[in-house]
Amino acid sequence: MTNRYFKQILLAEIGEEGQKRLSSASAVIAGCGGLGTVIASSLVRFGVGKVTIVDRDFIELDNLSRQVLFDEEDIRRGLPKAIAAAEKLRRINSEVVVEPVVADLTAENIEQLIKGTDIVLDGTDNFETRFLINDACVKLDIPWIYGGVVATYGMSFAIIPGTTPCLKCFISELPGPGSTPTCDTIGVLGTAVNMVASIEVTEALKILLGKQDALIKKLIYIDVWYGTWSLFELKKDKNKCSVCDDRQFVFLEQKKGTRLASLCGQNAVQISPPATTGISFKDLASRLASSGEVSYNNYMLRFTIEPYEFTVFPNGRTIIKGTTDESMAKTLFSKYIGV
Ligand SMILES: [Zn+2]
Repeated sequence: MTNRYFKQILLAEIGEEGQKRLSSASAVIAGCGGLGTVIASSLVRFGVGKVTIVDRDFIELDNLSRQVLFDEEDIRRGLPKAIAAAEKLRRINSEVVVEPVVADLTAENIEQLIKGTDIVLDGTDNFETRFLINDACVKLDIPWIYGGVVATYGMSFAIIPGTTPCLKCFISELPGPGSTPTCDTIGVLGTAVNMVASIEVTEALKILLGKQDALIKKLIYIDVWYGTWSLFELKKDKNKCSVCDDRQFVFLEQKKGTRLASLCGQNAVQISPPATTGISFKDLASRLASSGEVSYNNYMLRFTIEPYEFTVFPNGRTIIKGTTDESMAKTLFSKYIGV
């Protein structure tokens, strides 16, 4: 029988020994959008033993222009991204353990989700989550691959705690809301996403193969439209870094409690109450039936009361579409879902 990994085993860079290492390795992908779907598809096809996908969102039509694991049927079925991705990935390679986690990556759950994994790959779209990943990876001594893309350009850097600069070493402060362009404000080209995801995965493979010497060790900047490929040396600041030198993990040590976040460019607010043991969608649906239109499956409940649309997840996390006003969202949440 043909070995499915035949052509990568032929590579001097991987070989039989490398393939064995990959099959016993594990990776966590934070976010399963444009970057995350390409990363997940590559890691699973490569035969990385266990791949965990963490994503809070569900699939929408405008995702299909670049999020390679999803299709129109997934939208009709109302599937969360992590679940739809896992279904496809298991069909691609049943030898890989694929674990979908439908959740927002937060200070409360990140350590539990990444503990014991060999690597974390960045498929997120915001710096707050990246700073949280950086805190957790430095604390737990787990390598992670930073990657970001917008418009036609993007960048990536492999961070190995104790060896390379960490994210905080080269981005000293969290950029303010609205201060950086996002894919929702200026757009994004799918081919740029694919390139950055491929760079992230290639750097991750080197780490999983134990070939850290082969890492590029520089910030890689690429623009597919203008043909730019630049490498920037990143050095640790003369000043001590609060994260990797002083081990102050301010994003990880946020106080617990309900958190609200406006979802950039989506006219929506996300409300994350402290995790509950699970909401009964059946009970909630019957309570809401007289107020508006309700439907639910195993993964989410949708409730529409014009002009708002609620998407409620089993742990209580709720996305309210139709407003960017956080206090309004909180009011709506208390009114219809309750805490
Ligand atoms: Zn640092």
